[in-house]
Amino acid sequence: MEDLPFDSPLEGVAWPALPGARGMAAAAILFQLERSQWWSEDRLWHHQARQLRLLVDHARRTVPYYHERLADLDLAAGDDAFRDAWRGLPILDREAVQAAGDGLISTELPKSHGRTAAIYSSGSTGKPVRVIRTELWNTYWRAITVRDHLWHGRNFAGTLAAIRESGPGKAPYPDGDRAPRWGGASGGLFRTGPSFSLNVTTPVAQQAEWLMRLDPDYLLTHPSVAERLARYCLDQGLRPGRLRQVETIAEVLRPRVRELCRAAWGVPVVDMYSTRDAGYIALQCPENETYHVQGETTLVEVVDAAGRPCGPGEVGNVLVTPLHNLAMPLIRYTLGDVAEVGPPCPCGRGLPVLTRILGRRQNMLVLADGTERWPLLSTKDLGALTSLVPLQRYQFVQRRAGAVDLRLALPRAITAAEEAAVADWVRGKFDPALAVTVTAQADLAPAPSGKFEDFVCEIPDRPRP
Ligand SMILES: [Zn+2]
Repeated sequence: MEDLPFDSPLEGVAWPALPGARGMAAAAILFQLERSQWWSEDRLWHHQARQLRLLVDHARRTVPYYHERLADLDLAAGDDAFRDAWRGLPILDREAVQAAGDGLISTELPKSHGRTAAIYSSGSTGKPVRVIRTELWNTYWRAITVRDHLWHGRNFAGTLAAIRESGPGKAPYPDGDRAPRWGGASGGLFRTGPSFSLNVTTPVAQQAEWLMRLDPDYLLTHPSVAERLARYCLDQGLRPGRLRQVETIAEVLRPRVRELCRAAWGVPVVDMYSTRDAGYIALQCPENETYHVQGETTLVEVVDAAGRPCGPGEVGNVLVTPLHNLAMPLIRYTLGDVAEVGPPCPCGRGLPVLTRILGRRQNMLVLADGTERWPLLSTKDLGALTSLVPLQRYQFVQRRAGAVDLRLALPRAITAAEEAAVADWVRGKFDPALAVTVTAQADLAPAPSGKFEDFVCEIPDRPRP
């Protein structure tokens, strides 16, 4: 096993290292995670319940939305009784988060949890919600990030390249952005090699050229980007020499993406299940392709249509309760994702297992000249769009190249000025020449399959990606 390159900024200290404050916080959490990953279900629940009782007490005292809703929960109950009572709590969905507005924000956040920041997320549902998070939440987030590196044996001296959602105009081809370190991804705990990033809207041929030129050790990207890029590289015979692993985030990973990356580049894919609003939910097991729930930072429940917990082999809705975000507690929050619960993992870790995470993937927006654009809206995009109209849900529908319809669900009629402003914003985001139609209605219907998609491609005869 390689020696870990701990950061040791203190003058006159080489070993054992003393990292900076961030690194020490990450190390303190990781020291505990190294043990808790092996715990039994009951032992894990005992400690989760300790944290949940604090969260519930805080929420019902300082979060208006929860004053009444959590009033009856008995915090003095033993672990088993508390678990039963917990499972009777109402589920929080995105509509409720939208409707609650500031009512979900704590009026009395402990100062020690640090500054807050807002993120916007639409998940896979096209319904933007705003979530407020704390610096403390980020501390736990970094610890899990480092756990993922340790689980998957990454060499911190290596080069990390990311093709992921980035703000409009950020990290443009050909150079992208370069940083001397992996940044937050090393948790402030390790000295690392450099990192590079490229805007996710970059066309695939240019992504491939960038990848070959950088020749990184690790590629971090969305499954749909990895799939296109691997297929392109396979067709063109392009194989970056140093690449060791592809890390995928933010979308459902289909098995064929693993096969394609193996075929094109000879490397494994390591997937993680996280969302912008809830953070890390599950990481891929170090020893096989199932996922371990990150139960130390998020309580994850998978429940059937009647709200009962699913057992191994059963598929149900994913509910999450981030354990440490006291700024805006989300309690039994439904992500709109469906997952399959797995049996205990042969690796011996006690962290709960998910065998599959099911959902949908993004299509690409096609411009008049045939080039493709990633239709994902970033946090910043959603913030901009919600500042133009009070939208509850949106959906892009494309019927021919170079044109797109944006359907909005609004609580009231849209004005001509708002329509024009939204259309301008869409053109600014994707292409000045794009033909944009904006319509508003009270609600948007899901597809016949029952699933709602925020981007629908109806161009006839277009090969399915
Ligand atoms: Zn495992």
